[in-house]
Amino acid sequence: MTIQIAEAVAVEPIVERCRHLAEDLSLQAVEEWKARHPGGRAVGCYPVYCPVELIHAAGMLPVGVLGGGNQVEIAHADARFQSFICSIVKSTLELGLTGRLQVLDGMIFHSICDPARNLASVFVRNFPHQVVEYIHFPQNLASPRAVHYLAAEYRRVLASLESLAGRPATAADLSESIQVYNRSRALIRALYRLRAQRPECLATAELYPLVRAGTVLPPEEHAALMEDALHAVEQRAARPKDRIRVVVEGSFCEQPPLELVSALEEAGCYLVDDDFLLGWRWFVDDVPVEDGDPVRGLARAYVDGAVHCATRHDLRLPKTAHLLEKVRDLQADAVIFLAAKFCEPALFDYVLVRRALEEAGIPHVFLEFEEKMWNFEKMRTEVETFVESMLF
Ligand code: SF4
Repeated sequence: MTIQIAEAVAVEPIVERCRHLAEDLSLQAVEEWKARHPGGRAVGCYPVYCPVELIHAAGMLPVGVLGGGNQVEIAHADARFQSFICSIVKSTLELGLTGRLQVLDGMIFHSICDPARNLASVFVRNFPHQVVEYIHFPQNLASPRAVHYLAAEYRRVLASLESLAGRPATAADLSESIQVYNRSRALIRALYRLRAQRPECLATAELYPLVRAGTVLPPEEHAALMEDALHAVEQRAARPKDRIRVVVEGSFCEQPPLELVSALEEAGCYLVDDDFLLGWRWFVDDVPVEDGDPVRGLARAYVDGAVHCATRHDLRLPKTAHLLEKVRDLQADAVIFLAAKFCEPALFDYVLVRRALEEAGIPHVFLEFEEKMWNFEKMRTEVETFVESMLF
């Protein structure tokens, strides 16, 4: 009894601090970093994946720009986009138009979908004080030129970042940054493993803020927080509840409201894997740094060592193979496909996922969310019914 109270105190303050960081749309943590680093620059990273090491190697702070969640009223962005579009594109623009991204000196977007590409162009036009870069990721990862092509693309972006930072980023700088982020990603992987093994000891509603804090903190500071969290969770003890083990897929870009994640857990699910904040834990293993050309190493890792994502087109494997493997390896009972409304990459994937799950006899449920959701009762009831149909 005494031990349980001490353990709860150890984990909860860390989660609470991370939750505060995750919800702070004014980016106070970035302002504070700038105050501690006079002349320092911060660069926003739109999801899904951004090679943050390039920014870090030039001495700047990479910052995740993940939309406005349910805290932002869309008053201006509607005029720049059509109606049938995902929430994150509009709320990110709204953040910009209301001055809440002013602390950022640059923004990086990527070739993940048409709305993200258009958003990059809208940023160029509306925010001339920011450097806006757009990374074209290779569309054919099976091509023998894919690594060479992406390395060249990274070198182009790195030159622009060096110019923004006013200093070069040497190969040694980049190797060091890769190692810093390797450590951070390894800690996230360890937390994910721990949750899969003992989900009763780490709720996803706790894990999510722990990871998300890393999108606004310097990676060294975030890694120290995660080490403390990992240690604290390892000491936790809890009795497993009568829940099903579920893999969540489909939320790799726009993020579901945290209340929705809690609702899924309260409805009787242990979420043993998910694809939230996927870009911040993008690689299945450490990115190697020993071959003398870290830019190429980073590009190779994108091509050969990344997790599955609907926006990363890898024709070397069937698009559903990773999901079936995950369900098997994690001994999951079911899949929740949780897609952002109007997210084309997710919805295109779902067509294939649905067929593959049906053929493999794996129960699943499809849910659609948007940032501005306030009522989660309907979804909770739907998932409760799904869980009960499996438990009883
Ligand atoms: S949520 Fe989907 S459609 Fe919207 S920007 Fe992200 S990947 Fe593109």
